[in-house]
Amino acid sequence: MMDIALFKDIIDKCSHCAFCEAVCPVFREDLLETHVARSRMLILREALIEKRLPVTKRVREIVNRCLLCGQCKNACPAGVPVDDIVIAGRSALQQGKGKLSPKRFLVNQMMAHRGDARLLRTGERMAAMAGADLTDYPRFARTLFSEIYPSGIYEPVTPRRATVAYYPGCATNVFYPDTGEAVMQVLSHNGVSVIIPDKLVCCGIPALASGDIESAQAMMQKNIEQLSQVEADWIVTDCSSCLMTLKEKTLFVIDSVSDVRQKAEAVSRKMIDVMAFLNGIGLVGSPPSLGERVTFHIPCHAKGKEGLANAPFTLLSNVEKATLIPQEEDSGCCGAGGTFFTGHKRLSQGLRKKRCSAIRHSGASTVLTQCPSCRTYIQAGLGCEKNVTHPMVFLARAYGFPISRI
Ligand code: SF4
Ligand code: SF4
Repeated sequence: MMDIALFKDIIDKCSHCAFCEAVCPVFREDLLETHVARSRMLILREALIEKRLPVTKRVREIVNRCLLCGQCKNACPAGVPVDDIVIAGRSALQQGKGKLSPKRFLVNQMMAHRGDARLLRTGERMAAMAGADLTDYPRFARTLFSEIYPSGIYEPVTPRRATVAYYPGCATNVFYPDTGEAVMQVLSHNGVSVIIPDKLVCCGIPALASGDIESAQAMMQKNIEQLSQVEADWIVTDCSSCLMTLKEKTLFVIDSVSDVRQKAEAVSRKMIDVMAFLNGIGLVGSPPSLGERVTFHIPCHAKGKEGLANAPFTLLSNVEKATLIPQEEDSGCCGAGGTFFTGHKRLSQGLRKKRCSAIRHSGASTVLTQCPSCRTYIQAGLGCEKNVTHPMVFLARAYGFPISRI
């Protein structure tokens, strides 16, 4: 369901209770009523459905100044899917503008060819040559995950207990192959046979967030075709945004009458966070051990979902000697919002400042988060003072497995 007009009745379910106001990171920073979910939706309805408001620069700004964090949806007693409505609004605004911007076109091309190391590194070089400030951006890894673990079947080193397909997201593939290596080694040690399907592409969330539903749909269909062919008990992923996209957003985007819909539903049922999966089957063998004080950053896309937000904390409770400092689910957004920070520098930096201050206050030396975008953005905010990494990398280190430096 992508046509904004189809959301009219859903928007009208809003009772203006303002529960969404209390949880919106953008409102907390801007303190403007127009930036709260209920107002965004009213403006969308008036401008794009009823057409009683002109589509001004300010209307576009209100629609674009949303992190798509989903906190309003989680808090909404009427169950209004605000993030989906904002995406549909962006799509409608995009249609009015005609062609994609060169920047968005380039990003979509890179996402669709995520295994093409040459193309990716050329893009990075071009950005550096153009004088772009890359401080808050991740760097491409020397070796991609797909070069370390090409698609194929990887049998475990201990007796087999389960078979999973692994969807390594783009960020794991090109920026953080250490996460992928950790996933593969921990699963192997715990008796899990892993299938890495061929020809996977970006999950589609960056395109979807920009309102480019056509590109998102194309990427999702490719992944669904590949993942649905794999005979596995579960499909695991290490990234909370990829999980949300493959589990929930594909069903929002893939037409209910299309041929791939049934396959999308089957894939959605099998999708699970790799740490929630490991919590379900339990770790085998001697407990891993690592004496470090760690705290957690819960990504917005993991919040409000049972067994997901606390999956790293539960899993790492198995690590002897580690001091785990939990964080509340509402401990705040870091401001990254996928690629949101690239267009809303001051707002994102304001959110990050608060988040980094809470992290410093925790006294931990290591910060763990299951979102690569949060990982990069928080690390840039903290500098060398603390290490920010994925919980699976921490677990692999606790086991003593060799993980490449990124
Ligand atoms: S929480 Fe839901 S019902 Fe309440 S004001 Fe926000 S969008 Fe409307
Ligand atoms: S998705 Fe997040 S940023 Fe956007 S309106 Fe909802 S709470 Fe605010």
